[in-house]
Amino acid sequence: MKVVGLLLGAFALWLHATPQCYTQGYGDLIPSADETTIVLQNGTSLPYKTTLPKTTWDEKINNTDLEMQLSQAYDAGGIDTPPSYLFDPGRLRYQPFFQALYGKDQKAIEKNLVTIQWPTLKGSIKLPVNKVGGVDKKLYAIGQEIAKLPKNERIWAQGATTYCYRVIKDTDRLSMHSFGIAIDLAPTKTQYWKDEAPSETAHIGYRNTMPMSIVRIFEKHGFIWGGRWYHYDTMHFEYRPELLAPACLSQKK
Ligand SMILES: [Zn+2]
Repeated sequence: MKVVGLLLGAFALWLHATPQCYTQGYGDLIPSADETTIVLQNGTSLPYKTTLPKTTWDEKINNTDLEMQLSQAYDAGGIDTPPSYLFDPGRLRYQPFFQALYGKDQKAIEKNLVTIQWPTLKGSIKLPVNKVGGVDKKLYAIGQEIAKLPKNERIWAQGATTYCYRVIKDTDRLSMHSFGIAIDLAPTKTQYWKDEAPSETAHIGYRNTMPMSIVRIFEKHGFIWGGRWYHYDTMHFEYRPELLAPACLSQKK
């Protein structure tokens, strides 16, 4: 088994950051992808690479393309060590991709929102979620699984919020909450890098209290966790199946 694991690890590394991460991760929603173009089911074509500068961290954040969006491999293993300096798998995003998938503006996105029931300790609350690609069904399934955890872990799934059309604090980039594909949990008990550091390139101490039992349920359903970022946002989960596709997932434990 160990040899198989090693081979799988090497294979994943070899395949890492290929356009197939998109076809594998999104299934029917992305019928074709190659080194120049990815094509969505709705007919939209997007460039795989753009020529905008991507050298400094600011340029990487602001000029990410679909290739760079995969450049840091998401590790769904344990949290043995804090994420290394500027290692933010999934935080580099090509905004036109999310607009093409989930809605080009607020009006179009809101047309795609449906309501799901999210279990709480006392009953449930209603949360708006994007239905494209079945994100709503996946988040509903996550809530049902979390409801089976012991109470001392379930409390970390309280205070949930999803859709909110807004930019990321201090930037002009849309938050993934704007697309209805992200959820924040336990806002008063979790940690956010910006509370510790004044700028993107500052040196920050990692902190987290979110139980890994909750994180693993999200990851199983195609959601990544902001606690795996150098710029940690431990309340935050977002649907990013390209990073959890077998071809792209880091096998490092
Ligand atoms: Zn969030």
